[in-house]
Amino acid sequence: MFNKILIANRGEIACRVIRTAQRLGIATVAVYSDADRNALHVTMADEAVHIGAAPSRESYLLGERVIEAALRTGAQAIHPGYGFLSENAEFCNACKRNDLVFIGPPVSAIEAMGSKSAAKQIMENAGVPLVPGYHGDDQSLAILKQASDAMGYPVLLKATAGGGGKGMRQVWSAEEFDDALAAARREAINAFGDDRMLVEKYLTQPRHVEIQVFCDQQGNAVYLFERDCSVQRRHQKVIEEAPAPGLDQALRQQMGEAAILAAQAIAYEGAGTVEFLLDSDGSFYFMEMNTRLQVEHPVTEMITAQDLVEWQLRVASGEPLPLQQHELQIQGHAFEARVYAEDPDNDFLPVTGTLSFLQPPASSDHVRVDSGVRQGDEVSVFYDPMIAKLVVWDEDRDRALARLTRALGEYRISGMTTNLEFLYNLANSQPFRDADLDTGFIDKHHAAIFLDSDERVGQDLPLAALYLVLRQQQRAQQAATHSHDPSSPWHQTQGWRLNAPSRQHFTLLLHEQEYPLTVEQRRSGAACGYRIEGPGTRYCSDARGVLDGNQLRADLDGYQFNATVSEHDDIISLYTANNALSFRVQTPDLGDEQSGNNAGALNAPMNGTIVALLVEPGSQVAKGDALLVMEAMKMEHSIRAPADGKVTSFYYQNGDLVDGGSELLAFANDNES
Ligand code: ADP
Repeated sequence: MFNKILIANRGEIACRVIRTAQRLGIATVAVYSDADRNALHVTMADEAVHIGAAPSRESYLLGERVIEAALRTGAQAIHPGYGFLSENAEFCNACKRNDLVFIGPPVSAIEAMGSKSAAKQIMENAGVPLVPGYHGDDQSLAILKQASDAMGYPVLLKATAGGGGKGMRQVWSAEEFDDALAAARREAINAFGDDRMLVEKYLTQPRHVEIQVFCDQQGNAVYLFERDCSVQRRHQKVIEEAPAPGLDQALRQQMGEAAILAAQAIAYEGAGTVEFLLDSDGSFYFMEMNTRLQVEHPVTEMITAQDLVEWQLRVASGEPLPLQQHELQIQGHAFEARVYAEDPDNDFLPVTGTLSFLQPPASSDHVRVDSGVRQGDEVSVFYDPMIAKLVVWDEDRDRALARLTRALGEYRISGMTTNLEFLYNLANSQPFRDADLDTGFIDKHHAAIFLDSDERVGQDLPLAALYLVLRQQQRAQQAATHSHDPSSPWHQTQGWRLNAPSRQHFTLLLHEQEYPLTVEQRRSGAACGYRIEGPGTRYCSDARGVLDGNQLRADLDGYQFNATVSEHDDIISLYTANNALSFRVQTPDLGDEQSGNNAGALNAPMNGTIVALLVEPGSQVAKGDALLVMEAMKMEHSIRAPADGKVTSFYYQNGDLVDGGSELLAFANDNES
């Protein structure tokens, strides 16, 4: 076994590898870029070497720097993690030239799987089933089209050098073919500098089922069963599970053996994943082989009770596989949810920011959180926006799913938009509970996951309003307990007025929409409930509840349930047994000195874009006048005059991007001049 290894990666995967190395008594060396000087992986490692600037092209992708760092620190081997240099044949060769062990497969295996079409040829020769299609060298339009016509539409065009879903196009009819090919080629040349294409039959409702394989230098090979990764957005995985629901033993064995055949066809060593598409009739087809550890490997670890990084280290140092096929068994069920800094309501676009609050659910035998960040860390534009992988395990799928939703509900992150609520709603949706899985899952069940129906809003709004009035009462009570006169009417919050029902108005921002609400207190005997109405709509006639810490017991027209509340920055999230909702309260325009959200603050409240400059520099404005509008998180925020005076200059123009906290304009206050 090695004494010291270098991890050529960052974030959660670097931390993951370091943990196993530490357990095995192996010293670790981290590498880092300018942006990662204080990153978690750096502090966890015994030694760390700076290898360049923040962009990965100037640091984590510079193989020679990584090798220099290994030689300098006396590391014997390099673990590449995933991404970055993990499937780079040149880097693997360079390790060899420098007498460093590359913890991964031989270079020939990386090369063989580097091109999707060459990989298919090898698999076809080895007798591994392929999706019907064309993966030949002749790239003329006529040949590609002829192949497509022959297999029948829909077909899928794929860049042979592809990855990450780029250069991929569905073609639904012969008429669309020429344009689709041209577009896919353009995308491929931009992304990979190579516009060669292959064509496959497009399966309309396949599942993505992949097999974890492991081979050693002695020629042994095993499969560690499958993972179902059908739940994808933009053709990329978001929730994975093992075993695949409903896969019977015979099919599992068939797919496992096909995967071993694939690995042996390229004389594989180490950890690899053979990805298959599984059709509804039980046929399965080779898609590609990833010659590295996968992001989703923890679900396999959970159901086999093995540490795959330990296996990698043992195999790379020349030891035989720790277990043989007949010693491997599936125990229970595991899920992995990828927690991303991204905006599900905006086509899952990545977002950036500072993790101002970060509280993952407690780890246990059932819950594992693999993360590479701490509270206060930055999610930057330079790297993948994944914050953590939440992995859960239990005896069967239903129980494991209950663990997953509970843990998602306990996850607290603020400082940026995340996909937590989306994951929670997805995991809680009936189709997911029913394991009605295929790669179109998210599109197909959009309404159930995104809960954008009117009906949902009708349920969410009264709960949100009830929480707000109870919170107000709770705060007033707290203030009263600390005051000299607890019975003072100033500590009452019921909005009580003589001879009139007590009413309060809130404007909530929910699902990007504004909802004005009226909450009216009903005094009926001892108990008091609230009537909650919007313009022309009665949402709830009798809402009651008890708020205790962050636990809310709600009763909406006789339907009682519990909710957990999390409130950070100005976003309030409520998690119930069935869904999660997040909203903000629009600050009321009181027309007095509190008027305007940002009175007195001439700084950007968050990262955003300037959308309007409303006054001429030098012209007189009154206190509270809107001076500038910026858009952030898809909402507009006005910056208002803190006093009577003049804007002397704007520091930004329309369309400019501004960082949260930046000063936006110079203001001359009349009273101070
Ligand atoms: P990439 O390497 O760009 O990620 P893959 O070949 O791994 O691309 O495919 C990514 C995803 O695209 C798969 O998980 C699956 O959802 C979908 N896909 C790929 N090939 C097909 C096909 N022939 N029919 C239907 N869906 C496919």
